[in-house]
Amino acid sequence: MAKEDKRLVLAEEDCIGCGICVTVCPTNIKQEKDINFDVDSEPRAIAVDNGQAVIDYDLCKACGICTKSCPVDSLTIEVVA
Ligand code: SF4
Ligand code: SF4
Repeated sequence: MAKEDKRLVLAEEDCIGCGICVTVCPTNIKQEKDINFDVDSEPRAIAVDNGQAVIDYDLCKACGICTKSCPVDSLTIEVVA
């Protein structure tokens, strides 16, 4: 399925800002392997800001890996019609 057909959705009311999704995201992990990557200033596929997960839809590949690690099930993959 192509990237355009799926979308990661966050239930903001459930997210507790634990950051587990940030650490398991393969896109984030790949970025962090780049020695020039600045974690403080560059966007990541998913990050935590002000106690809430924030998805960057330009970077997120909707792979769904983070949805399996969220302790409160606040991340889901939605199929876009
Ligand atoms: S769906 Fe995949 S690429 Fe997007 S934030 Fe989750 S783990 Fe990262
Ligand atoms: S979306 Fe889930 S795993 Fe990510 S910060 Fe929120 S509660 Fe934690």
